Formats: sequence, structure tokens, C-alpha cells
Amino acid sequence: MPAIWDLPDFDSHEAVHLFEDRATGLKAVIAIHSTHLGPAAGGTRFWHYADSQSAITDALRLSRGMSYKNAMAGLSAGGGKAVILANPSRAKPAELLDAFARAVDSLGGKYVTAQDVGMSEADMVHLSKTTAHVAGLPDQGGDPGPYTARGVYLGVQAAAKHVFGTDDMHGVHVAIQGVGSVGGGLARYLAQQGAKLTLADVDAARAAALAAELGGVSVAADAIMSIEADIFSPCALGAILTEDSVAGLNVKAVAGGANNQLAKGIEGRMLADRGILYAPDYVINAGGIINVLRHIDSADDVEINRRIDAIPGRLSEIWKESDASGSTPAEVADKMAQKLIGR
Ligand code: NAD
Repeated sequence: MPAIWDLPDFDSHEAVHLFEDRATGLKAVIAIHSTHLGPAAGGTRFWHYADSQSAITDALRLSRGMSYKNAMAGLSAGGGKAVILANPSRAKPAELLDAFARAVDSLGGKYVTAQDVGMSEADMVHLSKTTAHVAGLPDQGGDPGPYTARGVYLGVQAAAKHVFGTDDMHGVHVAIQGVGSVGGGLARYLAQQGAKLTLADVDAARAAALAAELGGVSVAADAIMSIEADIFSPCALGAILTEDSVAGLNVKAVAGGANNQLAKGIEGRMLADRGILYAPDYVINAGGIINVLRHIDSADDVEINRRIDAIPGRLSEIWKESDASGSTPAEVADKMAQKLIGR
């Protein structure tokens, strides 16, 4: 196994902490990518990995992503990520969480944790009994979904403006993949503004019910990426933009809330070559983290809204630079983020 410095996902991370607590069986990684803009903030993932190197790789990759996301959201926060290596039974006893909270606390606030896959709101509250370095607790703003949905709506509108020259959404046809917290909220904003909606979800009844309520139509989950529409909005899973799916798209823009939409990264170039505008995922979906990290610099509701309102402007800046330079929007966003974190 190569040393951590030699792993392909190592990106001059400031620190990578490996924790082990023999009494509770805790094994955890806390990767601090950057504290240039503030404490390294990012969620804790509780996951069963095939091997420990996969866990380290995940922490490296996700913490860099948080640096970029927090920087582009204009937050006084750097990027970090923790992963707890679950055993195959995924047991999560209180003592294990206590040991993890002590690990977080031992970093003295350099890392601030939030909720991620495998961790519940109750788990976060539990951690907060041992360490103060927990963000997004129920009394600090609660569910990030509605904030993310509003930012994604503003980003979809910005995409329409960039492509069609107007941000009037009347009659603009948006195909939404996944109508959960983010996609469902987005659909409501769009319906209010007179957009035409096609919705899909693996829970077909959920998509059909929302389409009936909002005056749209629903299609099968496997059809949503090839229907003819103006904008495709992925709001379900990551890695949905692949060589094949990009070739089948029948839209002018892709703008949605899902994380890590580009399966390998190269799909950003394929979208550009097909003349399809792309809204970099971590820029458009930052509304939730903007709210989750509100206590880091004591932002009030007015400031939270101002930060979310800044999302479309940032996307426009990216698209203009992309048009001028020939770099893809994803490449431009990464470069902007790197500059913001002093790299
Ligand atoms: P959610 O669980 O509330 O909703 C996801 C929906 O997608 C569900 O209704 C599910 O049935 C559906 N779905 C799953 N697989 C699908 C498929 N293959 N095709 C169609 N539908 C499918 O989740 P959410 O909070 O709305 O998050 C959606 C996406 O946005 C995720 O990628 C998440 O990581 C990302 N995201 C969410 C937030 C947030 O604040 N909730 C913030 C940033 C990014």
C-alpha cells in the first residue's frame, strides 16, 4: 500500500489523521484538506469500506471537494471530511460515537463535522455532547434540503438566462431526476414560475403524485435522461453523467442538485462538445452547506439568503469565463476554487 502522500487523491492535504480506539473498535480518518479560509468543515460518513485504503481515499477526495464547495459558497470555512470505518454489521454503539467525538475534539476546532451518509441527526446531537465542533444541529437551522432547493432553483434560472437570454421561466421545460427533498422543492419553485415540468423518481408514485399536484407529467426513471427538454436537473444520485448518458441527452443545459454528477470528470468536456451548458454541482447545490455552517461566522437569516442569492451570479461568472477561455465550466470552477484557497 502506498504512503498517503503517494495516493492519487492526495492533494497537498494539510493533515490526514488516522484514529483508532481499541476499547470501542473505532477506526476513523479525518482529512483536513485546507484551513486557508477557516476551520475545515465537512460531514462525517459512516460506511463499511472494502479496505482501509478505500476509506482514506474517500476522505481525501471528499475533503478536497468540501474545500472547493465552501470556498465557492463564499464561506469562512475550509474543507475537511471524516469517515468512520463501520464493521460489516454497521453497528454504531454510543461508545463508538463517543470515541469519535473525542477524536474530533482532539483537533481543537480545526475540523468541524456535519451530517453525511450513515449518520443521523440524533448521532450528530450525540456527538455534540462531547465536542462543540459539530455544525447543523437541529437548533442551528435544521434540514438543509429547502436551502439547497432554493439555490438550485436560482441556478436553473441562471442557466435558462445564459442559454435563452431571459430568466422568465414561463414555458421553460425542465426534466427533474429525483423528487425528494431537493428535486421536489425545485419542482415547486419552478411550477410557481410557470415552468413546464417532467418528473421522474424510482419511487414512480411519488413522481406521479407531485406531477399531478403541480400540473406536470411524470415518466419512468430510466427515461428521464433522454427526453427532449430545455434543462435536465439531476437531483437524485451522483455519477449519472457518463459517456453513454451524455450522448443521449436531449437538452440545452444540465443544472441540478445531485453531488458528483460527472462520473469520471471527462464528461464535462463531452457536455461542452455537445453544446450543453453545465452548472458545476458543488456551486449550484451549496445552499444546504451555507445554512449548515451558519454558526461558523454567526450568519443570520438575511446573510444566509444573501449567500444563496449569490449562487446564480457565481455560475454566470463561471460560464462567461468558460465561453471566453474554452475551458469547461467544471474546469473553470475548480480553478476559481483553488485560487480562493490560496493554491
Ligand atoms: P432525497 O433522498 O430526499 O431524494 C432523492 C430522491 O431521488 C428520492 O425520491 C429517490 O427515490 C430518488 N431516486 C433515487 N435514485 C433515483 C434514480 N436512479 N432515478 C430517479 N430518482 C431516483 O435526497 P435529497 O436530499 O433530495 O438529495 C438529492 C441529491 O442532492 C443527492 O445527490 C444529494 O447528495 C444531493 N444534495 C443534497 C443536499 C441537501 O441539502 N439535501 C445538498 C447538496 C447535495
